[in-house]
Amino acid sequence: ESLGLNEIRERFLSFFEKKGHLRLPSFSLVPKNDNSLLLINSGMAPLKPYFIGIQKPPRKRVTTCQKCIRTPDIERVGQTARHATFFEMLGNFSFGDYFKKEIIEWAWEFIMQELKIPEDRLWVSIYKEDNEAFEIWTKKIGVSPERIVRLGKKDNFWEIGVGPCGPSSEIYFDRGEQAGCGKENCTVGCDCDRFVEFWNLVFTQFNRDEEGNYTPIKHPNIDTGMGLERIAAIMQGVDSIFEVDTIRHILDYVCSLAKIEYGKDVSKDMSIRVITDHIRSVTFMVSDGILPSNEGRGYVLRRLLRRAARHGKLLGIQEPFLYKICHKVIEVSKDAYPELKRKEESIEKIIYTEEERFQQTIDQGLSILQDLMNELITKNSDTISGIDVFKLYDTYGFPLELTMEIAQEKGLKVDENGFYQEMKKQKERARNARKITNIGSWKEDVSIFLGNNIETEFIGYNQLEAEGKV
Ligand code: ATP
Ligand code: MG
Ligand code: MG
Ligand code: MG
Repeated sequence: ESLGLNEIRERFLSFFEKKGHLRLPSFSLVPKNDNSLLLINSGMAPLKPYFIGIQKPPRKRVTTCQKCIRTPDIERVGQTARHATFFEMLGNFSFGDYFKKEIIEWAWEFIMQELKIPEDRLWVSIYKEDNEAFEIWTKKIGVSPERIVRLGKKDNFWEIGVGPCGPSSEIYFDRGEQAGCGKENCTVGCDCDRFVEFWNLVFTQFNRDEEGNYTPIKHPNIDTGMGLERIAAIMQGVDSIFEVDTIRHILDYVCSLAKIEYGKDVSKDMSIRVITDHIRSVTFMVSDGILPSNEGRGYVLRRLLRRAARHGKLLGIQEPFLYKICHKVIEVSKDAYPELKRKEESIEKIIYTEEERFQQTIDQGLSILQDLMNELITKNSDTISGIDVFKLYDTYGFPLELTMEIAQEKGLKVDENGFYQEMKKQKERARNARKITNIGSWKEDVSIFLGNNIETEFIGYNQLEAEGKV
Protein backbone atom coordinates (compact mmCIF):
# COMPACT_ATOMS: atom_id res chain seq x y z
CA GLU A 1 0.00 0.00 0.00
CA SER A 2 1.46 3.35 -0.97
CA LEU A 3 0.87 5.63 1.98
CA GLY A 4 1.68 9.34 1.96
CA LEU A 5 4.15 10.64 4.52
CA ASN A 6 1.47 12.65 6.27
CA GLU A 7 -0.81 9.60 6.47
CA ILE A 8 1.92 7.44 7.98
CA ARG A 9 2.52 9.99 10.70
CA GLU A 10 -1.16 9.95 11.57
CA ARG A 11 -1.35 6.15 11.53
CA PHE A 12 1.56 5.86 13.92
CA LEU A 13 0.30 8.43 16.39
CA SER A 14 -3.24 7.08 16.45
CA PHE A 15 -1.98 3.50 16.75
CA PHE A 16 -0.15 4.38 19.94
CA GLU A 17 -3.03 6.50 21.17
CA LYS A 18 -5.11 3.34 20.98
CA LYS A 19 -2.47 1.70 23.14
CA GLY A 20 -3.07 4.27 25.85
CA HIS A 21 -0.48 6.86 24.88
CA LEU A 22 -0.92 10.60 25.20
CA ARG A 23 -0.23 12.34 21.90
CA LEU A 24 1.95 15.42 22.36
CA PRO A 25 2.86 17.90 19.63
CA SER A 26 6.46 18.13 18.49
CA PHE A 27 8.70 20.13 20.78
CA SER A 28 10.68 23.05 19.40
CA LEU A 29 14.03 22.34 17.74
CA VAL A 30 15.52 24.61 20.38
CA PRO A 31 16.17 22.61 23.57
CA LYS A 32 14.75 23.97 26.82
CA ASN A 33 16.95 24.01 29.93
CA ASP A 34 19.50 21.72 28.30
CA ASN A 35 22.97 23.02 27.63
CA SER A 36 24.26 19.67 26.45
CA LEU A 37 22.50 19.95 23.10
CA LEU A 38 22.46 22.67 20.43
CA LEU A 39 19.44 21.31 18.57
CA ILE A 40 16.91 18.56 19.29
CA ASN A 41 18.13 15.44 17.52
CA SER A 42 15.67 12.75 18.61
CA GLY A 43 12.18 12.24 19.96
CA MET A 44 13.62 11.36 23.31
CA ALA A 45 15.81 14.45 23.73
CA PRO A 46 13.09 16.91 24.85
CA LEU A 47 11.65 14.25 27.18
CA LYS A 48 14.87 13.79 29.16
CA PRO A 49 13.45 15.38 32.36
CA TYR A 50 10.81 12.61 32.45
CA PHE A 51 13.36 9.87 31.89
CA ILE A 52 15.75 10.99 34.58
CA GLY A 53 12.84 11.62 36.93
CA ILE A 54 13.26 15.33 37.65
CA GLN A 55 9.81 16.04 36.20
CA LYS A 56 6.56 14.13 36.28
CA PRO A 57 5.27 13.25 32.79
CA PRO A 58 1.65 14.16 31.96
CA ARG A 59 1.07 10.43 31.42
CA LYS A 60 3.25 7.33 31.69
CA ARG A 61 2.73 6.62 28.00
CA VAL A 62 3.46 9.32 25.45
CA THR A 63 3.71 9.37 21.66
CA THR A 64 5.15 12.14 19.47
CA CYS A 65 6.37 13.03 16.02
CA GLN A 66 9.43 15.15 16.74
CA LYS A 67 11.24 17.57 14.43
CA CYS A 68 14.94 16.69 14.47
CA ILE A 69 18.15 18.24 13.19
CA ARG A 70 21.34 16.21 12.92
CA THR A 71 24.19 18.29 11.56
CA PRO A 72 26.72 15.51 12.20
CA ASP A 73 25.01 13.73 9.27
CA ILE A 74 25.52 16.71 6.94
CA GLU A 75 28.21 15.05 4.85
CA ARG A 76 26.03 12.02 4.28
CA VAL A 77 23.14 14.09 2.96
CA GLY A 78 22.71 13.46 -0.73
CA GLN A 79 25.39 10.75 -0.64
CA THR A 80 23.20 8.11 0.99
CA ALA A 81 19.57 7.38 0.26
CA ARG A 82 18.59 7.68 3.90
CA HIS A 83 20.23 10.63 5.68
CA ALA A 84 18.90 14.15 6.06
CA THR A 85 19.90 17.03 8.32
CA PHE A 86 16.21 17.63 9.02
CA PHE A 87 13.87 14.72 9.60
CA GLU A 88 10.86 13.74 11.65
CA MET A 89 11.11 11.03 14.26
CA LEU A 90 8.05 9.07 15.29
CA GLY A 91 8.28 7.74 18.80
CA ASN A 92 6.49 6.12 21.69
CA PHE A 93 7.69 6.36 25.25
CA SER A 94 7.13 4.53 28.50
CA PHE A 95 8.14 6.28 31.69
CA GLY A 96 8.45 3.34 34.04
CA ASP A 97 5.34 1.70 32.62
CA TYR A 98 5.42 -1.05 29.95
CA PHE A 99 8.69 -2.62 28.85
CA LYS A 100 10.47 -4.86 26.37
CA LYS A 101 7.81 -7.47 25.73
CA GLU A 102 5.01 -4.99 25.06
CA ILE A 103 6.99 -2.72 22.81
CA ILE A 104 8.37 -5.50 20.66
CA GLU A 105 4.86 -6.89 20.25
CA TRP A 106 3.37 -3.51 19.38
CA ALA A 107 6.17 -2.63 16.99
CA TRP A 108 5.57 -5.87 15.14
CA GLU A 109 1.82 -5.36 15.17
CA PHE A 110 2.23 -1.88 13.65
CA ILE A 111 4.60 -3.12 10.96
CA MET A 112 2.52 -6.18 10.08
CA GLN A 113 -1.04 -4.98 10.48
CA GLU A 114 -0.93 -1.24 9.85
CA LEU A 115 1.88 -1.05 7.32
CA LYS A 116 1.68 -4.62 6.01
CA ILE A 117 5.38 -4.84 5.20
CA PRO A 118 6.27 -8.27 3.80
CA GLU A 119 7.94 -10.26 6.55
CA ASP A 120 10.63 -11.64 4.25
CA ARG A 121 12.09 -8.13 3.84
CA LEU A 122 12.55 -7.57 7.56
CA TRP A 123 15.63 -8.00 9.74
CA VAL A 124 16.28 -7.30 13.40
CA SER A 125 19.38 -6.37 15.36
CA ILE A 126 19.82 -6.78 19.10
CA TYR A 127 22.59 -5.99 21.57
CA LYS A 128 24.85 -9.03 21.65
CA GLU A 129 24.20 -9.77 25.34
CA ASP A 130 20.47 -9.12 25.29
CA ASN A 131 19.13 -12.68 25.40
CA GLU A 132 15.81 -11.44 26.73
CA ALA A 133 15.20 -9.54 23.48
CA PHE A 134 16.31 -12.57 21.47
CA GLU A 135 13.77 -14.77 23.29
CA ILE A 136 10.94 -12.30 22.71
CA TRP A 137 11.73 -11.85 19.01
CA THR A 138 12.05 -15.58 18.35
CA LYS A 139 9.53 -17.18 20.76
CA LYS A 140 6.81 -14.56 21.19
CA ILE A 141 6.93 -12.98 17.73
CA GLY A 142 8.24 -15.92 15.75
CA VAL A 143 11.01 -14.15 13.85
CA SER A 144 13.49 -16.67 12.52
CA PRO A 145 16.81 -16.65 14.45
CA GLU A 146 18.71 -16.25 11.16
CA ARG A 147 17.05 -12.88 10.74
CA ILE A 148 18.38 -11.60 14.07
CA VAL A 149 21.82 -10.06 14.15
CA ARG A 150 23.72 -9.48 17.40
CA LEU A 151 25.70 -6.23 17.35
CA GLY A 152 28.06 -4.54 19.82
CA LYS A 153 27.86 -1.46 21.96
CA LYS A 154 28.52 1.00 19.17
CA ASP A 155 25.35 0.02 17.32
CA ASN A 156 23.00 -1.41 19.89
CA PHE A 157 23.61 0.07 23.30
CA TRP A 158 22.38 3.52 24.15
CA GLU A 159 24.20 5.61 26.76
CA ILE A 160 25.36 9.17 27.29
CA GLY A 161 27.90 9.31 30.10
CA VAL A 162 26.37 8.51 33.47
CA GLY A 163 22.66 7.98 34.01
CA PRO A 164 19.94 5.83 32.43
CA CYS A 165 21.11 3.62 29.57
CA GLY A 166 20.39 0.27 28.01
CA PRO A 167 20.43 -2.06 25.05
CA SER A 168 18.45 -1.42 21.89
CA SER A 169 16.92 -3.44 19.11
CA GLU A 170 16.65 -2.10 15.59
CA ILE A 171 14.38 -3.07 12.74
CA TYR A 172 15.68 -3.08 9.17
CA PHE A 173 14.17 -3.31 5.72
CA ASP A 174 16.12 -5.16 3.04
CA ARG A 175 15.95 -3.17 -0.21
CA GLY A 176 17.61 -5.95 -2.14
CA GLU A 177 21.06 -6.60 -3.51
CA GLN A 178 20.92 -3.92 -6.20
CA ALA A 179 20.63 -1.23 -3.51
CA GLY A 180 23.70 -2.38 -1.60
CA CYS A 181 27.45 -1.92 -1.60
CA GLY A 182 28.06 -5.20 -3.41
CA LYS A 183 30.48 -6.52 -0.79
CA GLU A 184 30.15 -10.21 -0.10
CA ASN A 185 29.71 -9.81 3.65
CA CYS A 186 27.12 -7.04 3.35
CA THR A 187 24.46 -7.56 5.99
CA VAL A 188 22.59 -5.73 8.75
CA GLY A 189 24.99 -3.23 10.33
CA CYS A 190 26.80 -2.60 7.03
CA ASP A 191 26.76 1.13 6.43
CA CYS A 192 25.30 0.95 2.93
CA ASP A 193 21.79 1.59 1.60
CA ARG A 194 20.69 -2.04 1.33
CA PHE A 195 19.59 -2.81 4.89
CA VAL A 196 17.84 0.36 5.98
CA GLU A 197 17.41 0.84 9.69
CA PHE A 198 14.01 2.41 10.18
CA TRP A 199 13.02 1.81 13.82
CA ASN A 200 15.14 1.84 16.92
CA LEU A 201 13.70 0.43 20.15
CA VAL A 202 15.67 1.44 23.23
CA PHE A 203 15.26 -0.47 26.48
CA THR A 204 16.47 1.88 29.19
CA GLN A 205 16.97 -0.65 31.97
CA PHE A 206 20.27 0.28 33.65
CA ASN A 207 21.76 3.15 35.48
CA ARG A 208 25.44 3.79 34.87
CA ASP A 209 27.45 5.33 37.71
CA GLU A 210 30.74 7.25 37.73
CA GLU A 211 32.75 4.03 38.09
CA GLY A 212 31.10 2.45 35.08
CA ASN A 213 28.89 0.02 37.02
CA TYR A 214 25.53 -0.86 35.52
CA THR A 215 22.69 -1.37 37.99
CA PRO A 216 19.21 -2.41 36.88
CA ILE A 217 16.55 0.23 37.48
CA LYS A 218 13.28 -0.73 39.18
CA HIS A 219 10.97 0.84 36.64
CA PRO A 220 12.75 0.67 33.30
CA ASN A 221 11.79 2.98 30.42
CA ILE A 222 11.07 2.55 26.74
CA ASP A 223 12.08 5.04 24.07
CA THR A 224 11.64 4.33 20.38
CA GLY A 225 12.47 6.28 17.24
CA MET A 226 11.27 5.66 13.71
CA GLY A 227 12.44 7.88 10.88
CA LEU A 228 9.28 9.09 9.14
CA GLU A 229 11.00 9.84 5.83
CA ARG A 230 12.64 6.41 5.84
CA ILE A 231 9.48 4.46 6.53
CA ALA A 232 7.68 6.55 3.90
CA ALA A 233 10.37 5.70 1.34
CA ILE A 234 9.93 2.01 2.18
CA MET A 235 6.14 2.18 1.93
CA GLN A 236 6.26 4.10 -1.35
CA GLY A 237 8.89 1.81 -2.83
CA VAL A 238 11.11 4.69 -3.89
CA ASP A 239 14.91 4.75 -4.01
CA SER A 240 15.60 7.43 -1.44
CA ILE A 241 13.98 9.70 1.11
CA PHE A 242 14.19 12.49 -1.48
CA GLU A 243 11.60 10.74 -3.62
CA VAL A 244 8.99 10.46 -0.89
CA ASP A 245 5.79 12.32 -1.91
CA THR A 246 6.19 15.44 0.24
CA ILE A 247 9.93 15.81 -0.28
CA ARG A 248 9.69 15.08 -3.99
CA HIS A 249 7.34 18.05 -4.22
CA ILE A 250 10.12 20.29 -2.90
CA LEU A 251 12.78 18.63 -5.04
CA ASP A 252 10.73 19.07 -8.22
CA TYR A 253 10.43 22.76 -7.50
CA VAL A 254 14.21 23.05 -7.05
CA CYS A 255 14.59 21.40 -10.46
CA SER A 256 12.12 23.79 -12.06
CA LEU A 257 13.99 26.80 -10.66
CA ALA A 258 17.27 25.41 -12.01
CA LYS A 259 15.54 24.38 -15.25
CA ILE A 260 16.96 20.88 -15.08
CA GLU A 261 15.63 17.37 -14.71
CA TYR A 262 16.38 15.11 -11.78
CA GLY A 263 18.23 11.88 -12.50
CA LYS A 264 20.21 13.04 -15.53
CA ASP A 265 23.52 14.10 -14.01
CA VAL A 266 25.12 12.61 -10.89
CA SER A 267 26.71 15.78 -9.56
CA LYS A 268 23.70 17.98 -10.31
CA ASP A 269 21.48 15.44 -8.54
CA MET A 270 23.72 15.76 -5.52
CA SER A 271 23.26 19.55 -5.47
CA ILE A 272 19.50 19.16 -5.90
CA ARG A 273 19.33 16.83 -2.90
CA VAL A 274 21.50 19.09 -0.76
CA ILE A 275 19.31 22.11 -1.51
CA THR A 276 16.12 20.11 -0.93
CA ASP A 277 17.38 18.89 2.43
CA HIS A 278 18.91 22.11 3.67
CA ILE A 279 15.90 24.27 2.85
CA ARG A 280 13.79 21.96 5.00
CA SER A 281 16.21 22.43 7.93
CA VAL A 282 16.39 26.16 7.36
CA THR A 283 12.60 26.61 7.15
CA PHE A 284 11.93 24.65 10.33
CA MET A 285 14.78 26.28 12.24
CA VAL A 286 13.60 29.77 11.37
CA SER A 287 10.03 28.83 12.31
CA ASP A 288 11.35 27.91 15.74
CA GLY A 289 12.82 31.38 16.18
CA ILE A 290 16.44 30.78 15.20
CA LEU A 291 18.13 33.62 13.30
CA PRO A 292 21.32 33.45 11.22
CA SER A 293 24.36 34.50 13.22
CA ASN A 294 28.01 33.70 13.79
CA GLU A 295 27.62 31.37 16.71
CA GLY A 296 25.68 28.48 18.12
CA ARG A 297 22.39 27.55 16.48
CA GLY A 298 22.46 30.70 14.38
CA TYR A 299 25.74 29.58 12.88
CA VAL A 300 24.33 26.14 12.07
CA LEU A 301 21.47 27.86 10.30
CA ARG A 302 23.81 30.20 8.41
CA ARG A 303 26.03 27.28 7.41
CA LEU A 304 23.10 25.29 6.03
CA LEU A 305 21.65 28.24 4.18
CA ARG A 306 24.95 29.30 2.63
CA ARG A 307 25.83 25.75 1.68
CA ALA A 308 22.49 25.48 -0.11
CA ALA A 309 23.12 28.83 -1.81
CA ARG A 310 26.49 27.61 -3.07
CA HIS A 311 24.89 24.48 -4.49
CA GLY A 312 22.41 26.77 -6.23
CA LYS A 313 25.39 28.43 -7.93
CA LEU A 314 26.62 25.00 -9.00
CA LEU A 315 23.26 24.50 -10.70
CA GLY A 316 23.62 27.86 -12.45
CA ILE A 317 21.02 29.72 -10.41
CA GLN A 318 22.15 33.35 -10.26
CA GLU A 319 19.47 35.07 -8.21
CA PRO A 320 18.35 34.50 -4.62
CA PHE A 321 16.06 31.48 -4.81
CA LEU A 322 15.92 29.71 -1.44
CA TYR A 323 13.29 32.09 -0.11
CA LYS A 324 10.93 30.84 -2.81
CA ILE A 325 11.37 27.19 -1.89
CA CYS A 326 10.41 27.60 1.75
CA HIS A 327 6.77 27.90 0.64
CA LYS A 328 6.89 24.36 -0.75
CA VAL A 329 8.21 23.09 2.57
CA ILE A 330 5.40 24.91 4.34
CA GLU A 331 2.80 23.63 1.91
CA VAL A 332 3.57 19.96 2.54
CA SER A 333 4.14 20.22 6.31
CA LYS A 334 1.72 22.89 7.48
CA ASP A 335 -0.98 20.54 8.73
CA ALA A 336 1.35 18.83 11.16
CA TYR A 337 3.23 22.01 12.03
CA PRO A 338 0.80 24.95 12.04
CA GLU A 339 3.56 27.33 13.21
CA LEU A 340 4.97 27.16 9.67
CA LYS A 341 1.87 28.70 8.15
CA ARG A 342 1.55 31.24 10.92
CA LYS A 343 5.06 32.49 10.38
CA GLU A 344 5.22 32.03 6.61
CA GLU A 345 5.81 35.66 5.81
CA SER A 346 8.60 36.20 8.31
CA ILE A 347 10.25 32.90 7.39
CA GLU A 348 10.47 34.08 3.79
CA LYS A 349 11.83 37.45 4.83
CA ILE A 350 14.52 36.07 7.08
CA ILE A 351 15.69 33.59 4.46
CA TYR A 352 15.66 36.26 1.76
CA THR A 353 17.66 38.72 3.85
CA GLU A 354 20.33 36.18 4.68
CA GLU A 355 20.48 34.94 1.10
CA GLU A 356 20.73 38.43 -0.27
CA ARG A 357 23.52 39.25 2.17
CA PHE A 358 25.51 36.24 0.98
CA GLN A 359 24.68 36.88 -2.69
CA GLN A 360 26.53 40.17 -2.54
CA THR A 361 29.84 38.48 -1.83
CA ILE A 362 29.52 34.85 -2.89
CA ASP A 363 30.64 35.32 -6.51
CA GLN A 364 33.63 37.38 -5.51
CA GLY A 365 34.51 34.94 -2.73
CA LEU A 366 34.20 31.96 -5.02
CA SER A 367 36.47 33.48 -7.64
CA ILE A 368 39.06 34.45 -5.03
CA LEU A 369 38.97 30.93 -3.63
CA GLN A 370 39.27 29.54 -7.13
CA ASP A 371 42.41 31.63 -7.79
CA LEU A 372 43.86 30.68 -4.42
CA MET A 373 43.36 27.01 -5.11
CA ASN A 374 44.82 27.17 -8.61
CA GLU A 375 47.86 28.95 -7.24
CA LEU A 376 48.35 26.31 -4.56
CA ILE A 377 48.02 23.52 -7.09
CA THR A 378 50.65 25.04 -9.40
CA LYS A 379 52.92 25.49 -6.38
CA ASN A 380 52.33 21.87 -5.44
CA SER A 381 51.14 22.74 -1.97
CA ASP A 382 47.98 21.33 -0.53
CA THR A 383 46.78 23.58 2.30
CA ILE A 384 44.90 26.86 2.23
CA SER A 385 46.32 29.12 4.94
CA GLY A 386 44.38 30.19 8.01
CA ILE A 387 44.68 33.83 6.98
CA ASP A 388 43.07 33.17 3.60
CA VAL A 389 40.31 31.05 5.06
CA PHE A 390 39.63 33.73 7.63
CA LYS A 391 39.49 36.41 4.97
CA LEU A 392 36.91 34.39 3.08
CA TYR A 393 34.94 34.06 6.29
CA ASP A 394 35.23 37.65 7.45
CA THR A 395 34.96 39.52 4.18
CA TYR A 396 32.97 37.19 1.95
CA GLY A 397 30.84 35.38 4.53
CA PHE A 398 32.13 31.89 3.77
CA PRO A 399 31.59 29.61 6.77
CA LEU A 400 34.75 27.60 7.52
CA GLU A 401 32.99 24.35 6.61
CA LEU A 402 31.99 25.69 3.21
CA THR A 403 35.58 26.59 2.32
CA MET A 404 36.67 23.19 3.58
CA GLU A 405 34.12 21.46 1.40
CA ILE A 406 35.11 23.37 -1.73
CA ALA A 407 38.79 22.75 -0.98
CA GLN A 408 38.14 19.07 -0.52
CA GLU A 409 36.49 18.87 -3.93
CA LYS A 410 39.87 19.98 -5.32
CA GLY A 411 41.83 17.59 -3.11
CA LEU A 412 43.08 20.43 -0.90
CA LYS A 413 43.12 20.93 2.86
CA VAL A 414 42.47 23.91 5.06
CA ASP A 415 44.57 25.12 8.00
CA GLU A 416 41.80 24.98 10.58
CA ASN A 417 43.98 25.89 13.53
CA GLY A 418 45.30 28.86 11.65
CA PHE A 419 41.74 29.93 10.98
CA TYR A 420 40.79 29.79 14.65
CA GLN A 421 43.92 31.75 15.56
CA GLU A 422 42.93 34.51 13.15
CA MET A 423 39.45 34.48 14.61
CA LYS A 424 40.90 34.84 18.11
CA LYS A 425 43.11 37.70 17.03
CA GLN A 426 40.13 39.52 15.60
CA LYS A 427 38.15 39.05 18.80
CA GLU A 428 41.05 40.48 20.78
CA ARG A 429 41.23 43.49 18.49
CA ALA A 430 37.53 44.07 18.98
CA ARG A 431 37.84 43.70 22.75
CA ASN A 432 40.71 46.18 22.92
CA ALA A 433 38.77 48.61 20.82
CA ARG A 434 35.82 48.36 23.18
CA LYS A 435 38.07 48.99 26.17
CA ILE A 436 39.23 52.23 24.65
CA THR A 437 35.65 53.17 23.82
CA ASN A 438 34.76 53.06 27.46
CA ILE A 439 37.32 55.61 28.52
CA GLY A 440 37.92 57.88 25.56
CA SER A 441 35.69 59.95 23.37
CA TRP A 442 33.97 58.27 20.45
CA LYS A 443 35.83 60.34 17.91
CA GLU A 444 39.20 59.05 19.07
CA ASP A 445 38.06 55.43 19.11
CA VAL A 446 36.76 55.45 15.63
CA SER A 447 39.87 57.13 14.34
CA ILE A 448 41.84 54.08 15.44
CA PHE A 449 40.07 52.14 12.71
CA LEU A 450 39.70 54.79 10.08
CA GLY A 451 42.95 56.70 10.28
CA ASN A 452 43.02 60.47 10.10
CA ASN A 453 40.48 61.08 7.40
CA ILE A 454 37.73 60.53 9.90
CA GLU A 455 36.13 63.93 9.33
CA THR A 456 35.28 63.16 5.74
CA GLU A 457 34.96 59.38 5.85
CA PHE A 458 33.01 58.85 9.00
CA ILE A 459 29.90 56.91 8.11
CA GLY A 460 28.33 56.60 11.51
CA TYR A 461 28.99 54.63 14.60
CA ASN A 462 25.99 52.37 14.24
CA GLN A 463 26.94 51.18 10.82
CA LEU A 464 30.42 50.24 11.97
CA GLU A 465 28.93 48.38 14.83
CA ALA A 466 26.54 46.55 12.57
CA GLU A 467 29.43 45.48 10.43
CA GLY A 468 31.20 44.11 13.46
CA LYS A 469 34.12 46.49 13.09
CA VAL A 470 33.97 47.86 16.62
P1 ATP B 1 21.79 5.43 11.04
O1 ATP B 1 22.59 4.30 11.67
O2 ATP B 1 21.08 5.00 9.82
O3 ATP B 1 22.59 6.67 10.87
P2 ATP B 1 20.93 6.03 13.67
O4 ATP B 1 21.18 4.71 14.35
O5 ATP B 1 21.95 7.07 13.82
O6 ATP B 1 20.63 5.79 12.10
P3 ATP B 1 18.88 6.58 15.63
O7 ATP B 1 19.66 7.47 16.48
O8 ATP B 1 18.69 5.17 16.08
O9 ATP B 1 19.49 6.59 14.14
O10 ATP B 1 17.48 7.29 15.33
C1 ATP B 1 16.24 6.59 15.21
C2 ATP B 1 15.73 6.57 13.78
O11 ATP B 1 15.74 7.87 13.18
C3 ATP B 1 16.57 5.73 12.85
O12 ATP B 1 16.24 4.37 12.95
C4 ATP B 1 16.19 6.30 11.48
O13 ATP B 1 14.97 5.74 11.02
C5 ATP B 1 15.97 7.78 11.78
N1 ATP B 1 17.15 8.59 11.41
C6 ATP B 1 18.30 8.70 12.09
N2 ATP B 1 19.15 9.57 11.50
C7 ATP B 1 18.50 10.03 10.40
C8 ATP B 1 18.84 10.97 9.39
N3 ATP B 1 20.01 11.61 9.39
N4 ATP B 1 17.93 11.21 8.42
C9 ATP B 1 16.73 10.59 8.41
N5 ATP B 1 16.35 9.70 9.35
C10 ATP B 1 17.22 9.41 10.34
MG1 MG C 1 23.29 7.88 12.46
MG1 MG D 1 22.22 3.01 13.38
MG1 MG E 1 19.84 3.54 15.55
